[in-house]
Amino acid sequence: MTVGPVDPDGAASQALRSAGLRVTMPRLAILAWLGAHPHSTAEAIGSGVREQFGAVSTQAVYDMLALCTTAGLLRRIELAEHPARFERRVGDNHHHIVCRRCGRTEDVDFVIGVQACLTPAEASGFAVDGAEVVFWGVCPTCQVAEGPVDGRSMIRKYGSDEEQPPAAAKQG
Ligand SMILES: [Zn+2]
Ligand SMILES: [Zn+2]
Repeated sequence: MTVGPVDPDGAASQALRSAGLRVTMPRLAILAWLGAHPHSTAEAIGSGVREQFGAVSTQAVYDMLALCTTAGLLRRIELAEHPARFERRVGDNHHHIVCRRCGRTEDVDFVIGVQACLTPAEASGFAVDGAEVVFWGVCPTCQVAEGPVDGRSMIRKYGSDEEQPPAAAKQG
């Protein structure tokens, strides 16, 4: 492993330093790989990094992901019944759409028509500073591979700005 190919513009080194973390090859390799493959699981990151940059143990990958997440360099996306995924896009409140079958995860920048649902009617005294929305469906690849599913009409509906999802309709 050499620094050049892992962190050509020095941005990852700079990010580690400004988070107060030591710059090491495995850390740079993980950040570099994740930059090119957002929303990856720890397992995928481990095998991707090994393939591209050389040996790093699974335990080391998990440790570094935890460290970088705590330091604010990575965002950890928790998904019900799927392994957690990681991404380098931090500092904004973007949402995600997830395939129920293969777990493919994509960014959703804006939620159309449901702003009202992101403000709880009753916050139980909490100081609310964010809300996360996860859309579930079946990705195009899985639809082709396994045929259409019931959820498909729902994805179309949520993707359209002409129709509002049912939750928004209730808000008036
Ligand atoms: Zn899929
Ligand atoms: Zn994302």
